Amino acid sequence: MSEFLVIDQVSKSFGALRAVDAVSLHIGRGEVFSLLGPSGCGKTTLLRMLGGFEKPDSGRLLLAGQDITDLPPEKRPVNTVFQNYALFPHLSVWENIAFGLKMAGRSKPDVKAAVERMLAMTRLIDHASKRPAQLSGGQKQRVAIARALINEPQVLLLDEPLAALDLKLRQHMLSELNALHREVGTTFIYVTHDQGEALSLSDRIAVMNHGRVEQIASPTELYEAPANGFVAGFIGDANFLRGTVQEMMPGSFVRVQIDGLGRPAVMAGSDLKTGDAVRVMLRPESLHLSTEHPAASERANCFQAIVEEVIYFGAHERLRLRAGTQVLHAQRTRAHGHAAVSVGQSWWVSFQPEAGRVVEREGN
Ligand code: ATP
Repeated sequence: MSEFLVIDQVSKSFGALRAVDAVSLHIGRGEVFSLLGPSGCGKTTLLRMLGGFEKPDSGRLLLAGQDITDLPPEKRPVNTVFQNYALFPHLSVWENIAFGLKMAGRSKPDVKAAVERMLAMTRLIDHASKRPAQLSGGQKQRVAIARALINEPQVLLLDEPLAALDLKLRQHMLSELNALHREVGTTFIYVTHDQGEALSLSDRIAVMNHGRVEQIASPTELYEAPANGFVAGFIGDANFLRGTVQEMMPGSFVRVQIDGLGRPAVMAGSDLKTGDAVRVMLRPESLHLSTEHPAASERANCFQAIVEEVIYFGAHERLRLRAGTQVLHAQRTRAHGHAAVSVGQSWWVSFQPEAGRVVEREGN
């Protein structure tokens, strides 16, 4: 990974609150990198320090080898798209987009060519003469992005840019942002508390909690190999089961005694020893139901469970299962030929060892 943008041991406190706590990140040129975490975890504060709106108490920010820690916002080759768009209400779309270049004293033909390119890229040509109040939320968002990109920043900071939009429009804007990134190739740093946005948009994601980074990884790695219980719980749906390590197995597997599930083999995830009390994560969609005992050759872990609840979601259904004292959630894609599941039935449930993962060792 090239070191285009380096965040080196950056901290920021507000009074006694350490909003950002010794965060270090290395972000590559052209990467779409998300800061993801619950409200108050410090992601906006970190973004504001990158934009120059907040000064770190300690640590350094380097962009393409240059120390930008003490540069004011207007001297940084960085632009921010704010959640509330911050458009000039009295200026037209055209003038809003042109603003940065005009302020920089660029020639009229230059400004005109650049604005036209941005209008085309963000599909706003037909709206060029409108004022912001005459635009939809998605259109305003596109003006805000065009207004930032026209300055050709080396880094575009996006602070929850889709938060004000409804679900359909958010999904639409996500694919527009993807397309826009493919076209301009600018480094995007994207702040969100929405895991769906981060997973669908990012090359890599830093998951933050209480001012610290819990894990930095690609979307698939975060989902499939969360570093700890916090990340596992924050990204996607998960069952968490308490158990005790019974046996170390070849590869990175361990056998864990789990009440109601017997002694399934799961991924170890970290250094463990026999007797450790652990929490095991199992994604709902990795649980397979069958009426027959699954064949031993499938190598699958297997247990019996009673269906307590079935919730219909159209393309899939969500089941609440009970195995002994254990309650688990399973998700089944609805497909032709699948036997119907109903409350009170007993089913065999199986999962591959790779689908289970120890995400935490508990103090013992
Ligand atoms: P959200 O998604 O709600 O915006 P966030 O992860 O972006 O949350 P921050 O806005 O970075 O979180 O805030 C981190 C912590 O710092 C919060 O507890 C917040 O209340 C506090 N904080 C942020 N800015 C200030 C400020 N200017 N003065 C005092 N406290 C602040």
